[in-house]
Amino acid sequence: MSIVSVEHVSKDYMLGKTVVPALRDVSLAVGKGEFLSIAGPSGSGKTTLLNLVGCVDTPTAGRVIVAGQDTARLSERALTELRLRTIGFIFQSFNLVSVLSVFQNVEFPLLLQGGQTRKERAERVLALLDAVGIAEHARHRPSELSGGQRQRVAIARALVTRPALVLADEPTANLDSETGGNIIDLMKEMNRRDGTTFIFSTHDPKVMAHASALVRIEDGRIASREDLDAARLAGGR
Ligand code: ADP
Ligand code: MG
Repeated sequence: MSIVSVEHVSKDYMLGKTVVPALRDVSLAVGKGEFLSIAGPSGSGKTTLLNLVGCVDTPTAGRVIVAGQDTARLSERALTELRLRTIGFIFQSFNLVSVLSVFQNVEFPLLLQGGQTRKERAERVLALLDAVGIAEHARHRPSELSGGQRQRVAIARALVTRPALVLADEPTANLDSETGGNIIDLMKEMNRRDGTTFIFSTHDPKVMAHASALVRIEDGRIASREDLDAARLAGGR
């Protein structure tokens, strides 16, 4: 069963009076538990596609179905709920709250969700900070961290609620290879243990090496889709 279904989606941006077609008739189904990589050159439409699936932007044409719900038919409130309870989004720009500490940034989605004691939240937040190797910076503000460290905070914040679907826009782009490797291991572990679905945009061959499927996007169109688990089972890799 698909957790994400993108159906004949196009997205145009307006740049002054010029139409910039970012996606053209894209269709893509992502099954529960996939670890799917989207690869493609800069400007090919990767971020646009993730933003549509993450319900932070709306398509010009076509449908985006997430967890069985047609996102165009949801109220603002229902969309907020979907983003809060089902989706974890690791933005390329991190989107951390500058006046909150690292700990508070990661705790924030748990506070919005409610239903946990302060102690339960603290345990979960510290476990995540530890897993991404940033626990010693828990009290710092994002502005006191390097780009790679901010990225790790953004990753912890996206994973803290155990979302069914994690969208990650080039999650290892600012990380050294050891930290990048640890983060891939952490995501792979969540994928295996909890069945979390991951959709990455990436140029990183190490992320692609773990992928269950590799989608190549060129000039706003899906150029190919390779299902790697099937290839592995068939002895093809
Ligand atoms: P990628 O993430 O693969 O680098 P993007 O999805 O960011 O690609 O961009 C796809 C295309 O859409 C590019 O041509 C880009 O310039 C254009 N684009 C992206 N965002 C906007 C925007 N807000 N306004 C106008 N054009 C945009
Ligand atoms: Mg991008």
